Amino acid sequence: MTNVLEPITTLKGIGKETAEHLSEMGIYTIQDLIWTFPYRHEDSRLKDLAETPHNEKVTIEARVESVPSVLYLGKNKSRIQVTVLAGRHLVKVVFFNQNYLRTKLVPGQVVTVSGKWDRGRQVINGTSIKFGPKTDNADFEPVYSLKSSIHQNKFRKYMRQALDLLEGEMDETLPGRLIEQYQLPSLLEALEGVHFPKDADHAKQARRRFVYEELLQFQLRIQSLRKIRKENEQGLAIHYDVNKVREFIRQISFELTNAQKRVVNEISKDLKEPHRMNRLLQGDVGSGKTIVAAIGLYSAVTAGFQGALMAPTEILAEQHAESLKGWFDPIGVKVAILSGSTKTKERRLILEQLRDGEIDILIGTHALIQPDVLFNNLGFVITDEQHRFGVEQRRVLRDKGVNPDVLFMTATPIPRTLAITAFGEMDVSIIDELPAGRKQIETHWLKKDQLNSGLTKMESELRNGRQAYVICPLIEESDKLDVQNAVEVYEQLSTIFNGRYKIGLMHGRLHPDEKDSVMREFSEGEVDVLVSTTVVEVGVNVPNATFMMIYDADRFGLAQLHQLRGRVGRGEHQSYCVLLADPKSEEGKERMMSMTQTNDGFKLAEKDLELRGPGDFFGKKQSGLPEFKMADLVHDYRTLEVARQDAAKLIYDDQFWQSDEYRYLRKMLEESGALNGERMD
Ligand code: ADP
Ligand code: MG
Repeated sequence: MTNVLEPITTLKGIGKETAEHLSEMGIYTIQDLIWTFPYRHEDSRLKDLAETPHNEKVTIEARVESVPSVLYLGKNKSRIQVTVLAGRHLVKVVFFNQNYLRTKLVPGQVVTVSGKWDRGRQVINGTSIKFGPKTDNADFEPVYSLKSSIHQNKFRKYMRQALDLLEGEMDETLPGRLIEQYQLPSLLEALEGVHFPKDADHAKQARRRFVYEELLQFQLRIQSLRKIRKENEQGLAIHYDVNKVREFIRQISFELTNAQKRVVNEISKDLKEPHRMNRLLQGDVGSGKTIVAAIGLYSAVTAGFQGALMAPTEILAEQHAESLKGWFDPIGVKVAILSGSTKTKERRLILEQLRDGEIDILIGTHALIQPDVLFNNLGFVITDEQHRFGVEQRRVLRDKGVNPDVLFMTATPIPRTLAITAFGEMDVSIIDELPAGRKQIETHWLKKDQLNSGLTKMESELRNGRQAYVICPLIEESDKLDVQNAVEVYEQLSTIFNGRYKIGLMHGRLHPDEKDSVMREFSEGEVDVLVSTTVVEVGVNVPNATFMMIYDADRFGLAQLHQLRGRVGRGEHQSYCVLLADPKSEEGKERMMSMTQTNDGFKLAEKDLELRGPGDFFGKKQSGLPEFKMADLVHDYRTLEVARQDAAKLIYDDQFWQSDEYRYLRKMLEESGALNGERMD
């Protein structure tokens, strides 16, 4: 009986020296060997030359038709040529420096030749030759990533030997139930298919199995961490008044979109249950997250709890307060706002009413997490644009209640695959639908020397009483980066518009008071054009602004461009976005094209993921994404979804914890530390 844990030297032909070379690749045991997957396969299927394109690799079976002719090209160099008949094609085969073929190639003999097909000259530039017809039925030969000291052919032989030894002796690692349900190949069949596939389908099925198995294991770890969290963290069961909540929803001036309804249900369910809510709500700009937040907060209020909503800037907090007061004042729910600029006397009053429980909902900036802000009975906390707050700030706010439920909202669409991978321990809700009747923002990509045409469009909007944003990447001239500087653009535009329109300047170096005052002037319509760095990115709502021009747009990622663009198109008027860019790379061009083609943040996020890959999507190094052997988060998202659902069910299934067929998955879970609540990184 061969054990997979036996040392690699158990295999014939592997001595001390080879074992040493293999150990450099991390291969010590038979198990290590068989889990070293090839990175590609060489296609060695027989091809019909008539259908083979120029310069493609081919393998043919042919009969030698001539005596080989040899040309000597100097020391140890030679070129041998022979005419062969492959099917109905009479072609030449050429080999370099394979002098020995001279005596081996005899007319009438059948050979199998691989090489590159020169269609024009009807010549195969041979790379390998076997004498006799193609005997083995290997259509694909594995190519491994090897240290130069080991040859592919040798390595293939070790692999073949290892797999043959293990035949019939390897335990299946997936339960029969799942194998059957998804029609997956058995472990051995899949290993065979990964290394030595019989055909393309064999390879595909093998890959399918390992992708699923890998993602299932991954999701089992995440789901068990989640389960442990839910079991250990006592939360509030918020028994809201269903009828009151229904009535509240009914009297809103619009009908919720289906996506909003779904998310409201997800949140309600979390509120009711006694575990602590830990949910991420994603919704594109304008998808209507605020009303969803309001319904959640109101639910908590009907159960006698207080709610809090924390926004990253004063302007955003004020906007939220305005919306919420519009809904809550008429029904007697008391909303207050607390920010850095709240007057001392007013602040004292608010704090008092908060402690007494007179205030139902408190909205604010991080002024909410000052030590003297004490709630009477905080049950539900929402933080908007969660990435703007540090983990610590969020924790402090949460700790102001007794395990209140927590909802994080973000307008940054993250592809679902990444969301459930990187935020796997959180529940994720997505509003993936905009309210009906929204106008698409018309987006144009202009070269920098077409600036004037952009300015003409801008002026025509201004003439109609609309307002405009002009976005510049950096605030100061930098020698290294050839980017527009906001101050320069501001001065340029001031000259161009020459007093006809009022221009405002906004950048990160301004004092917070100055920022607020510029923003206020813009939102009140006193400033017509706001020249700004990316600080306007999040949340600002000025419905009269219908035009945005972005300088050096190719310097931004798709997600950020989309966020910026979301500042326009918020009112009844048609809006426009002009991207000024001369991208040098194909990828940059593709980003610009994508922006002109769609307004859908999730589509753009998927595109961004495709262009930049999962690692770069979140920015370097802190992606929190695991590395997979086979699975690819971009292409295998459906499998990830399936694996996630299966894992979530299994974790609560007694069978999983008891039945013998799950023992490998259980063992993997134990070894990962997930059962002790340890994270994996
Ligand atoms: P965001 O998700 O960007 O925070 P908001 O909550 O600010 O979006 O909503 C944008 C606008 O759409 C608001 O004026 C809001 O009242 C409105 N809105 C939200 N949901 C709907 C809906 N289902 N139908 C029509 N308008 C809606
Ligand atoms: Mg919002």
